[in-house]
Amino acid sequence: MNINKNYQNLKEGYLFQTISEKVKKHSKENPDLKIIRLGIGDVTRPLAPPVIDAMHKAVAEMGMAESFRGYGDYEGYSFLRAAVCGYYAKKGVALREDEVFVSDGAKSDLANILDIFSSGNTVVIPDPVYPVYVDTNIMAGRKIIYMDGNADNAFLPMPKSGVKADIIYLCSPNNPTGAVYGKKQLERWVSYALENDAVILFDGAYEIFVQDRDLPTSIYQISGADRCAIEFCSLSKTAGFTGTRCGYTVVPQALMRDGESLNKLWLRRQATKFNGVSYVVQRGAEAVFTKNGMERIKGDISYYLENARIITDALTELGIWFTGGKNAPYIWLKCPGRMSSWEFFDVLLCKAGVVATPGAGFGANGEGFLRLTAFGDRENLIEAMGRIKAVCG
Ligand code: PLP
Repeated sequence: MNINKNYQNLKEGYLFQTISEKVKKHSKENPDLKIIRLGIGDVTRPLAPPVIDAMHKAVAEMGMAESFRGYGDYEGYSFLRAAVCGYYAKKGVALREDEVFVSDGAKSDLANILDIFSSGNTVVIPDPVYPVYVDTNIMAGRKIIYMDGNADNAFLPMPKSGVKADIIYLCSPNNPTGAVYGKKQLERWVSYALENDAVILFDGAYEIFVQDRDLPTSIYQISGADRCAIEFCSLSKTAGFTGTRCGYTVVPQALMRDGESLNKLWLRRQATKFNGVSYVVQRGAEAVFTKNGMERIKGDISYYLENARIITDALTELGIWFTGGKNAPYIWLKCPGRMSSWEFFDVLLCKAGVVATPGAGFGANGEGFLRLTAFGDRENLIEAMGRIKAVCG
């Protein structure tokens, strides 16, 4: 028998493993040092009380014959899909319930959506990038064209004439760079996709961090996007669901390719390969979209954004170039003194006891950059930035 040989083309997932080994070694050599991690992409604030209350109630329902639920709809319960539609209505986007598919998070859907596209398609992916887009397409053997993000385009690459794409990945606010596309830039991407008969896979996992009112928080705020884009959202960073697992994917009814409705293809795919997200979790997710739930989670988002401000203030004081941190939980900084990503990583670890993520792990264009995240605890963060200032000042 043959295995899928495309897996042999994957790069080793060495980034977080190497970081962990380096940190372990440094801790062993300096047992009294408190290491502060500013590199992790996981949240630290607990689930909001309205979410917990809703899940408790749902657990109780599952324990009574009259309210017990077995298999739910593949697409998610109507109560949650309606709540998502209500959330989009506030953004000025009219969605129908049958355009919303509840998921166990954005990562699986970003990978699984590829089932409905031919492996002969050409994919355009920004570099640096969230590694899932690259690896899932390598696994399927698709041709990948990278689009360069760099300091000159503020890490917001734009369509290039002469490049023919079928599938385009956009992530805004971006992981790892924290950069956010403006309306005019997304309008150009939508025009390009429509002209090329391409589909944009828009990753909106960090949309809730956008504070500037003139920045789009959904691709569907751009006219024509319902004919060329699929949007992936997650409650992971929005509401602390990284361990609870829930997200949603929007596939508009107007989105047709090859004479087929992509909504219907996706429904068919889900009905065959997915049995839905648990009732208890969906009730918790529904609570996120209530007035009370939104108020609580926005408090957590403000906490993270204030962390980001503390980081960016320190970098500004040090004269270090960065992007992100204003409408995103990620800060992407240029390593001072022309250091490589790993060189500056080692300096911060060995001299400041601070762990960052080397930008080189997110693609060739990430070399010479580091990613910091705002998801940590405030006190530790302040201490970490004080140590970085002492080392780099
Ligand atoms: N998209 C981006 C850009 C991410 O950074 C992440 C998680 O870090 C995800 C998607 C996946 O999120 P989820 O926890 O919903 O699978």
